[in-house]
Amino acid sequence: MSTKLKTVAVHAGNRLTGSKAIPVSPAIHPAAVNWFDSSDDLDAALDGKDYAYARISAPNTTLLETAVAALEGAEACVAYASGMAALRSLFEAQGFRAGDRLAMPADGYGVTRALYKNLCAVLGVELHALDLADPSAPARLRELKPRLVLAESITNPLLRVPDLKALAEASHAVGAAFAVDATFASPVGQRALELGADYAVQSTSKWLNGHSDALGGTVSGSNARIAPLRAARVLAGDVLGPFEAWLTLRGLRTLPVRMKAHVEHAAQVARRLADSPLLERVIYPGLASHPDHAVAGRMLQGGFGPMVSFEIRGVGRERCMRFLEALALCLPGPSLGDVGTLVMHAASASARRFTPQEREAAGIRENLIRVSVGLEDPDDIADDLLQAVAKAVRP
Ligand code: PLP
Repeated sequence: MSTKLKTVAVHAGNRLTGSKAIPVSPAIHPAAVNWFDSSDDLDAALDGKDYAYARISAPNTTLLETAVAALEGAEACVAYASGMAALRSLFEAQGFRAGDRLAMPADGYGVTRALYKNLCAVLGVELHALDLADPSAPARLRELKPRLVLAESITNPLLRVPDLKALAEASHAVGAAFAVDATFASPVGQRALELGADYAVQSTSKWLNGHSDALGGTVSGSNARIAPLRAARVLAGDVLGPFEAWLTLRGLRTLPVRMKAHVEHAAQVARRLADSPLLERVIYPGLASHPDHAVAGRMLQGGFGPMVSFEIRGVGRERCMRFLEALALCLPGPSLGDVGTLVMHAASASARRFTPQEREAAGIRENLIRVSVGLEDPDDIADDLLQAVAKAVRP
């Protein structure tokens, strides 16, 4: 190689030689472009047989996709820059035409609803927001004959648990594709594909990553279902970066042990909260008072989930903000899935993009708080929530 500094600066140190070591933690490959000694190998790479350009495929993304597919029990998985990018690609892969119908939960994630509303409006697709946890939902789907049904494993923030097997059967009976956003349960809490879903979607920004340090999203399913999404991603370019893929894979290594503890803690926190006279309603699928308690026992394979919601008795939004500011241990952060407890006022955060009418129809009231239960001691979590509630309701 030339010894001229300009050339040396660009080319020296670009290959590691003489090592057969396999790192215990995978290397991070930030290269957007790869080159090959052989032009035949480059040609094959450009055909998708190896890594040529990171918008087509990249090593850290492949490793993450392999791991998520294995967790979901799927043949294939495709990863995106965020959960919303995954949901957008899922929509676009359906080939909707004007007059088609889409069914989704009335009480699901507000941003998904807003995105799908926009996409449907552009194409002239009818969006039907339904109570998918209601026993009448399968019959409603049979009447409606939608092209796509999107359910959520545990809805956000009312924690309803739909019967996926019944929804899958009804969807397939009318030729609809059935997708489940299983973000709230994670693949450890619910293997949506085994329950009949064609697609399992994750916002990996939540439990899979687990540490709130990388956005990401995945869609998993059969090779036939995922191949068009993968091809579309090459064109759309909404790929996950290598650092984010690496961080998510690192977080995912501890997913089963984290989820076991999150779910146990959530059950303990829900029991403590259920005793408080300052709360109007405690919502947890593990409580006998929950409308889907029996269904949840069949649908949630790893316990009753890591999320708890509650309504503070007799307060409006202003006092809910006082509650958030009074928290001393739990963090008032608008997300879920962290090692620490995150607490959110539903109407102003996850359901922010709903119209007031949509919020009312979904049953999301101004006094509703959602908790993503963390790995702290569950009594410390419950103590902190209850002392903040006491401060919020004080005259
Ligand atoms: N799906 C659900 C159920 C969510 O709660 C979220 C985010 O909160 C998303 C999808 C979107 O994921 P992301 O924030 O990674 O785009």
